[in-house]
Amino acid sequence: MQSRDVETGLVVILCPGLAGPLRRKIKDRLESFGGEVTAVEGTGRFYLEVRGEVAAIQSLVVESWPGVEKVVSLGGEFLHTAADPDRVPEGVNVGSVCIGAGTFSIIAGPCAVEDEQRAVRIASSVAADGADLFRGGAYKPRTSPYAFQGLGDAALQILQKVRAECGLGIVTEVLDPRDVENIAGIADMLQVGSRNMHNYSLLKELGQTSIPILLKRGFASSIDEFLMAAEYILSGGNSNVVLCERGIRCSTATNNVVLDLGSIPELKKRTHLPVLVDPSHGSGDSYRVPALARAAATVGADGILVEVHEKPEEALSDGAQALTLDQFGELVPQLREIRELLEGHGSGVPDDLVSTPGGEDL
Ligand code: PEP
Ligand code: MN
Repeated sequence: MQSRDVETGLVVILCPGLAGPLRRKIKDRLESFGGEVTAVEGTGRFYLEVRGEVAAIQSLVVESWPGVEKVVSLGGEFLHTAADPDRVPEGVNVGSVCIGAGTFSIIAGPCAVEDEQRAVRIASSVAADGADLFRGGAYKPRTSPYAFQGLGDAALQILQKVRAECGLGIVTEVLDPRDVENIAGIADMLQVGSRNMHNYSLLKELGQTSIPILLKRGFASSIDEFLMAAEYILSGGNSNVVLCERGIRCSTATNNVVLDLGSIPELKKRTHLPVLVDPSHGSGDSYRVPALARAAATVGADGILVEVHEKPEEALSDGAQALTLDQFGELVPQLREIRELLEGHGSGVPDDLVSTPGGEDL
């Protein structure tokens, strides 16, 4: 891993229009806990950058102080994933599609590629309904070694044909570091599945490439572990990482999975990386998928990864959670509408913060 100094810090973003005396009061209070505080002026607002002894301040709930809008952690070990208040996230380009940076991306397709005609039919249908990318598994990580494992290389050839015929970029999963080069030669984006989020050999290998990576959250992983997995890829030199919340294991939940939608605002606060939601593996039931997809759009996800099949009852894997083509067609305009509505309300992280050297004068 690339070695860089681990420097910690915080940025305290103040409410827009906060009066000078209140800004000074917050600065003094932060300094009284030992932080070195620099005031920075943005467009129409101020923020305070706190460096040095930040441990005492981190243990306080600074976000609840009057006049404070938000607190963002800087640095620490999250060298490459941490949100940077001076930089508007640029998003990750997958072919002609940009994930993040204000867009809502829809990645759709069957759990597994089953045969060429079927894959082409599903891809044509989801493309016509507004999907941005096609996802189909060639190599499947199955719980049982006796279950369908995917068509492997034959599926990669099919995926190439799908892209040629339907024009959608291709996302497919890589399970093994030895397959990275081969699959990256065909796909536009590589998925790292939940079970492989902790496969550090695979993550390191992917860090050596420049292909976009869709990194799914391990179903027993904390947010710190999720971001650290992304650090493995970014610190290797590949900055094209998109995160995907896919639910966490919980024995008392329906289908043993809870879709942790609370992780979306948390991740959006902590990292500049785009964050998608997978409502399919996050529920296991197709009837719950549209509601969870709408919820994902509402909580600020940058898009969804959703399983769609022309005949879910015939699917070789994950049929119970696959939307039909019609259900997918109904869902897409609902998601677009939700996003338009939210944009109309000006939701999102302040993106107008620009560091100015003269900002010391609060
Ligand atoms: C999948 O995307 O088909 C899959 C197996 O997902 P996960 O890794 O999230 O279980
Ligand atoms: Mn699946």
